[in-house]
Amino acid sequence: MRSLIVGEYEEHGITDATLRALTAASQRGVAFDVLVATRQAADSASRIAGVSRVLLVNTGDADALLPETLALQLAALAADYSLIAASHRTAGRAALPRAAALADGAFLADVTAVLDSQRFVRSLYAGRVTATVESTATVTFVTFRASSFVPAAAAGGTAPVIELAPLAPFAATTLVERQAPVQTSRDLASARVVVSGGRGLGSGENMTRLGSLAERMGAALGSSRAAVDAGYAPNATQVGQTGKTVAPEVYLAFGISGAIQHLAGMKDSQIIVAVNNDPDAPIFSVADYGIVGDLFEVMGELERQVRQG
Ligand SMILES: Cc1cc2nc3c(=O)[nH]c(=O)nc-3n(C[C@H](O)[C@H](O)[C@H](O)COP(=O)(O)OP(=O)(O)OC[C@H]3O[C@@H](n4cnc5c(N)ncnc54)[C@H](O)[C@@H]3O)c2cc1C
Repeated sequence: MRSLIVGEYEEHGITDATLRALTAASQRGVAFDVLVATRQAADSASRIAGVSRVLLVNTGDADALLPETLALQLAALAADYSLIAASHRTAGRAALPRAAALADGAFLADVTAVLDSQRFVRSLYAGRVTATVESTATVTFVTFRASSFVPAAAAGGTAPVIELAPLAPFAATTLVERQAPVQTSRDLASARVVVSGGRGLGSGENMTRLGSLAERMGAALGSSRAAVDAGYAPNATQVGQTGKTVAPEVYLAFGISGAIQHLAGMKDSQIIVAVNNDPDAPIFSVADYGIVGDLFEVMGELERQVRQG
């Protein structure tokens, strides 16, 4: 009846999104282990409060662990677990459905609450429907929406590290190159402040300008899908149903109309500030503060304030 969580690692330690997935897993009320791919990640994971064991598949280079290979590894471990989970980010979204298919398990995506060991809540149709789902599979694979859970304490634990032999990598694909086309240095999914731009920005240059403002404000840059489709912003910045789900302390939306698919990814933010020159824009229906006006004027004023500060 144990749970296994895929531990993602960044320079400073196990990611905030993984810490949140661990909180979710702990709510099942059964012991939970963490699977990591490097020695540094294992050291960091073993200190997390509540972790029972750390499984280290020592690849030496976590980046080399493609979702296809991770799926093989998870499927090989499935017999020991009733739940295998990850945060609802790129790696988990790619690896877990594959692993579920290989292990003949069930897969539940974007889970927002854990009711008991087999029952979960997830949102469907861009947040219009909330479904309670009961899994009857022997092993259930789940991705947890990070913003729905608080992070587990990163210190206080002393879990043992168990080293596993890595499986032969999936042979049909090879990692050729990895690019990180982000415009700010902060992780969008876990940033405390997100500054987002939409089609109203009108150009990639203006989006770069918004990215610089975000950077100086200590925020991450987000965008709407229309802005991504228009080539103003990279894919990695997209917020919404088919992008990232964020719930920062403050979300600033510049020139975003507020389509239901965008709201699905940011409506749980604590404070929403919207700038739009259309007083009827739907974004104002979820905004705590709305500025009806030209976004470039507001951007200019914020730039002045940030320069002075
Ligand atoms: C299956 C599906 C999935 C989707 N997934 C997503 C998703 O994940 N994320 C997402 O964002 N969208 C998604 N969409 C697209 C979504 O429906 C909208 O088309 C998109 O969100 C619109 O982006 P926008 O608000 O930037 O553009 P627009 O709707 O064109 O809005 C631009 C806004 O800028 C304002 N504006 C223009 N100039 C100025 C100015 N100078 N000052 C102030 N305001 C100005 C306008 O008044 C307008 O409200 C999805 C759609 C589908 C069908």
